[in-house]
Order: sequence, then C-alpha cells, then structure tokens
Amino acid sequence: MRQTRTPDGTSVPVLGQGTWMMGDEPGRRDAEIAALREGIDRGMTLLDTAEIYGNGRSEELVAEAIEGRRDALFLVSKVAPGNASRQGTIRACEASLQRLGTDRLDLYLLHWRGSVPLAETVAALETLKDSGKILRWGVSNFDVDDMAELAAAGGEAVQTDQVLYNPSERGIEHDLLPMLTEQGIPVMAYSPIGQGGDLLDDATLARIAERHGATPARVALAFVLRQEGVIAIPKASSVDHVRDNAAALDLTLDAQDMAELDAAFPPPHSKQPLAII
Ligand code: NDP
Repeated sequence: MRQTRTPDGTSVPVLGQGTWMMGDEPGRRDAEIAALREGIDRGMTLLDTAEIYGNGRSEELVAEAIEGRRDALFLVSKVAPGNASRQGTIRACEASLQRLGTDRLDLYLLHWRGSVPLAETVAALETLKDSGKILRWGVSNFDVDDMAELAAAGGEAVQTDQVLYNPSERGIEHDLLPMLTEQGIPVMAYSPIGQGGDLLDDATLARIAERHGATPARVALAFVLRQEGVIAIPKASSVDHVRDNAAALDLTLDAQDMAELDAAFPPPHSKQPLAII
C-alpha cells in the first residue's frame, strides 16, 4: 500500500475506508463488516467514522469489524461542531472511544466549523492529545481562510483537512490543495467516487475505464490519488466494491486520460466556494 505522511511524520495509507451510513441497517451488518475486514486485509487500514454517523452506529460497527486488530489501524473519528466546546469535545471523544472499543484515536477531526471559537476547540484537542486519548488532530470542511484562522488560533498542529474531492468536484485544486500540499498537510478526499451517484455513469469515466480494463470507480479514485499527499476514503459495503477500490492503486492515468477528464470536468480557473456535503 502506498503511504503518505502527516506533518508529525506518521505514515498513513493513501487509500482508506469511509463508513458513513454503515451500521444503519441490521440486514446489511454482516456484509459491511466483511467489507471493512477485506479492506483491512488489503492494506486499507485507515478507517474514517464520526460520532454523527448513524448517531454512533457507524463507530459501533467499526468496533466490531476491527476486534483484535486495532493496533494495525489508523482510526479517524470526528467531533460534531455542536459538541466542540472545551468540555464537550472531551466528552464527545470519550463517548467515541467507548463506542469504538478503544483507548485512543489516531486522528480526531473537527467535522466542520460551528459557533465555538476555534481556539477553544484547539485547546480541547490539545488536552485530549496530552492525555493520550487522541494521537493527533485535524479538521474537515475547512477552506483556505478557515485554515488561516485556525493557524492564528494556535492550530499549527493540524494534521489534515478532510474535504470533498472527486473528478466532478475540483474546486480545491485552485487554492486549498496547492496550499496544503506546500505545507505538507495531506488532504483527505471524502466522497471520492461521488457517493456512487452520477459519476459512476459518466461516459468519460466509462471510456477511460474501458481502455484500462478498469471500472469508473477505479478511475475516480485514481484521479484523486494521482497527486502526492492526497488520501481517499471511499465507502464500500460489499467485498466486491472494496476489491474494486483497492485495485485503483494499480491504475495510473496517462496524459490522454487526464485531457479527457479535464475536458469533461474542467479544473477551476478561479476561487470556488468550498463544496460541502
Ligand atoms: P463515496 O464517494 O465513498 O461513495 C460511496 C458510494 O459508492 C456507496 O453507495 C457505495 O456503494 C458506492 N461504491 C463504493 N465502491 C464502489 C465501487 N467500486 N463500484 C461501484 N460503487 C461503489 O461517498 P461517501 O459520501 O460515503 O464518502 C466516503 C466517506 O467520506 C464517508 O463514508 C465518510 O467516512 C466520509 N465523509 C466525510 C464527510 C465530511 O464532512 N467530513 C462528508 C461525506 C463523507 P456500497 O455501499 O453499496 O458499496
């Protein structure tokens, strides 16, 4: 598995696994657990969850999937902005740890900006780090100006910004992605295959996939992963989808592929507001 590094020097796989909407349906539980375990077997050992996913059900599902293998994983969870006060962040983290059945998170993210001052959330995250309950922290859905405010609020220790990025959502290529790359902060691309929607039916992705004997999902992931310092966290709830996604690491897009993608999904020529799901 190809790796990248967080600013604190930690090696992380560039392909991880998302878990939004997992754990919601009892009838799908076994398949979802099997999918996550398949991904772990294939080196997709970064697992992304959040306290708000299914009101904690995603974290509980992850706990079951990772039983006995926790030390091999890079576990990511997120505090909701409504909980991101000095004490609320600590309580939220402790509840996530309990649901996940672990004593630490490898990375804890502020899910998006809310009304709590950034300095207060940063202070709470640093307290969690000092106590060993989290090993590092980052943010999600932060644009360029948010990152500047974060730095001014004492947030120099930020380890990632998790944002929407896929072939049809390229706004970050204008400013946020180059800025974070320059600072050595990896971008964690969420919804990298467009939530399994229209992108997978797109004619350009289908044509490129056919040329390479691949699938549109693999093309979308290869697009996101073509750049150093980008981590993709596709969510897949079947073993077949996980295997397909893992194979994206063997797909390198060539100049013709990129020209066709640029024509179908033009890169941004000016500042775009950060797209958020
Ligand atoms: P994705 O782009 O990962 O798409 C997931 C969808 O694609 C599912 O319907 C899945 O189906 C389908 N899929 C997965 N692999 C394949 C494949 N190989 N072929 C065909 N279809 C496939 O969307 P998400 O929104 O789930 O984003 C990924 C993760 O990012 C989330 O799960 C979450 O962890 C995180 N996230 C973070 C956000 C934030 O605000 N920080 C916001 C949104 C997401 P199936 O399940 O049937 O396999």
